[in-house]
Amino acid sequence: MREDHSGCSKTSGRCQQGYSLMLRNRAPQTIAAANGIGKDAAFGSVTPPLYLSTTFTFDGFNRPRAYDYTRAGNPTRDLLADTLAQLEAGAGAVVVSSGMAAIDLTLGCLEPGDLIVAPHDCYAGTWRLLTMRQAKQQFDVVFIDFADDAALKLALARAPKRVLIETPSNPLMRVVDIRKIAVQAKAAGAKVIVDNTFLSPALQQPIRLGADFVVHSTTKFLNGHSDVVGGVVVAASQKDAEELTVWANTIGVTGAPFDAYLTLRGVRTLFVRVERQERTAAAISTFLNTHPAVTAVHYPGLPSHPGHEIAKSQQTGFGAMLSFEIAGGVDGVRRFVESLEVFTLAESLGGIESLVAHPATMTHASMSQEARLVAGISESLLRLSVGLENEADLLADLARALQAV
Ligand SMILES: *Cc1c(COP(=O)(O)O)cnc(C)c1O
Repeated sequence: MREDHSGCSKTSGRCQQGYSLMLRNRAPQTIAAANGIGKDAAFGSVTPPLYLSTTFTFDGFNRPRAYDYTRAGNPTRDLLADTLAQLEAGAGAVVVSSGMAAIDLTLGCLEPGDLIVAPHDCYAGTWRLLTMRQAKQQFDVVFIDFADDAALKLALARAPKRVLIETPSNPLMRVVDIRKIAVQAKAAGAKVIVDNTFLSPALQQPIRLGADFVVHSTTKFLNGHSDVVGGVVVAASQKDAEELTVWANTIGVTGAPFDAYLTLRGVRTLFVRVERQERTAAAISTFLNTHPAVTAVHYPGLPSHPGHEIAKSQQTGFGAMLSFEIAGGVDGVRRFVESLEVFTLAESLGGIESLVAHPATMTHASMSQEARLVAGISESLLRLSVGLENEADLLADLARALQAV
């Protein structure tokens, strides 16, 4: 790292010389909308420039500047990292090429025999990553139901190195108490990672609740336009942030500058998008909850949801994701998705467009059937990512498709 030469931390993008673009100590909405705006020293460009260059000139012999090579550090990527670190109340962030790369990065410095505790109903890609690395003996994993206090206690008695939490979980929207788990995990000597993809820092800031790391698939709400695959790890401590920065450069998973530029453009509107999407999701959850063809609705905003009180205590909103189960089995599911016109049948989430997914055949197909059943993911389960379309149009679309069930 070049910090010694330049006075520039590549972890956070905070530089003493040349590139001091960052807003500090403002409300999150202001950081999202305006971090780095109007600071271009060269031409006064209001929008921060996109630096695509892979390499940077030396000032002279043995005189590197703040940046030398884009895998190691890049001004556009660092501005995004700084923005996300501030939004998550972390000490620093590393922007990487996907959400999976972000999760893998937090586990890269574990050793054979080290244990990870993970949720039994985690994102299927996470489940695959953990089980495939475990099969190579790179670390051990135990999957538990975090709502089961006894199971958590047993797992923590095995002195894990990392505890991975996903709340609300994908796709069942289960909510677990981050504060409580973080206290117990730390007492057991483990560092806590929270996958905050489903809510974004606009609605939940896990570091403030005791997490050591927050990971995101920035592909989802943070970019918000379904046109970039990316990820980020935010660390609570400067030391962890620096260590991850070294690892990300060493293994070469840092994100592309153009992707960082687009993602920052998405982050500018994060708060208004999430606010509106959440409002529509709440209306949809209420509609589905009383519909005769719907057998269950999983949305933490419903007072009947088992995680409603915990969600209220640690989230500032209930989010734009929900799932539900319909009558009529797989045939009912097929008739339903084939009747939708406004919702699009596709994986992923958090974009401006509303999507419907069938976890058993789509997002969670890479999970074994046994694991799916243990996690409670039935063939009748559908997941919605609510976008920015007109609320009445979305409700009418669902009403018509449910008639076909
Ligand atoms: C999408 C997703 C990931 C993986 O992110 P990619 O950007 O697709 O690699 C991880 N966790 C959750 C909760 C996700 O939704």
